[in-house]
Amino acid sequence: MTDIFNYTQSEEVFSAAQKLMPGGVSSPVRAFKSVGGKPVVFDRVKGPFAWDIDGNRYIDYIGSWGPAICGHAHPEVTTALQEAIEKGTSFGAPCVLENKLAEMVIDAVPSVEMVRFVNSGTEACMAVLRLMRAFTGRDKVIKFDGCYHGHADMFLVKAGSGVATLGLPDSPGVPRSTTANTLTAPYNDLEAVKKLFSENPDAISGVILEPIVGNAGFITPEPGFLEGLRELTTENGSLLVFDEVMTGFRISYGGAQEKFGVTPDLTTLGKVIGGGLPVGAYGGKKEIMSMVAPSGPVYQAGTLSGNPLAMTAGIKTLELLKQEGTYEKLDAITSKLIEGIILSAENNGVVINGGNVSAMFGFFLCEGPVRNFSEAKTNNAELFGKLHREMLQRGIYLAPSPYEAGFTSLAHSEEEIDKTIEAFDQSFNSIKNY
Ligand SMILES: *Cc1c(COP(=O)(O)O)cnc(C)c1O
Repeated sequence: MTDIFNYTQSEEVFSAAQKLMPGGVSSPVRAFKSVGGKPVVFDRVKGPFAWDIDGNRYIDYIGSWGPAICGHAHPEVTTALQEAIEKGTSFGAPCVLENKLAEMVIDAVPSVEMVRFVNSGTEACMAVLRLMRAFTGRDKVIKFDGCYHGHADMFLVKAGSGVATLGLPDSPGVPRSTTANTLTAPYNDLEAVKKLFSENPDAISGVILEPIVGNAGFITPEPGFLEGLRELTTENGSLLVFDEVMTGFRISYGGAQEKFGVTPDLTTLGKVIGGGLPVGAYGGKKEIMSMVAPSGPVYQAGTLSGNPLAMTAGIKTLELLKQEGTYEKLDAITSKLIEGIILSAENNGVVINGGNVSAMFGFFLCEGPVRNFSEAKTNNAELFGKLHREMLQRGIYLAPSPYEAGFTSLAHSEEEIDKTIEAFDQSFNSIKNY
């Protein structure tokens, strides 16, 4: 198709950016490497929309990679932030807002009895790992192929989307001695986990996973998988950790653990709980969390942690989500979207499988079901790249990688969903003969 949107200014800014920052970005996947073409440079966001600096408008299905679940720049969130900013941006001292957000998180998330705030999901996962080792006195951890837990050394093994997108199986700079303690298993494969436990008796501190995967594309746990992990970890004196940085407050108010009724020992959070400002958190049983400094010996600290702006955006966002009918609405809109995408692919003879859980969705251009990352990689990545560019030209902003989940928000109405499905229909029609 001939270009409808003009990207002159985006192209100018991005080529300047490439001389200033590695790859021109502050986080790798934003560079559009896996879909080809150049990234668009954003000017502003509001509700379900994003505008680039050339003035093109997009319906946005990334939502800043998760935080924008109430829609971008929700007026209640921005008003609360404006009021908070008058009192200062950072205290470096206790503030009432921390108690408030902590109470909200503890009330909502079944496993969390105590919580520590940090500044990102990466930081939360890094800290939780230290705590897992300290509590059990064991060094090894089991993670799953394709799950992303931030970029700490120990987790950069088979770490899903960002790394997979760049074709780096691992990262240079990560010492072998560090990742020697990271054991991996295919997602949804309890037998492989059992085997690791029997090969490493009394050495495994715990199992960490995304309870619904969003960093290897969108992959759901098969019935019994989470329950099985709960049993295996308990039997072996290990901890079960749900990384709910993406799923927390997105697939239900209490996260995946509430949705599936499986309670881990520890949980990491991020994205939504910061309402668009940098926040992460880890929490769990009092007995374990009491080991964190200064109440216990496990050191972890942060200059800007718990700062009043981030706490304010988080509190407001959770208040909005807590209202009656929120998750029903998110589920209805997202189901309608993914059903429409699948139908329009099929009508155009494009092989597809996909689904959603509440406001998180995804699809692969291959036969399903996809149960793990190696099955995800049978996805037709080249066709996805073409689809991505076609959709961009039709004003739809999808994650620039086939191995990322998509996100809807409370601001996405039926009208945006209908427009999006129409754009999919036209795009599939235009790429089907490649
Ligand atoms: C995004 C993400 C992280 C990392 O969070 P950052 O805030 O980007 O550091 C960790 N785990 C999961 C499951 C994520 O989706």
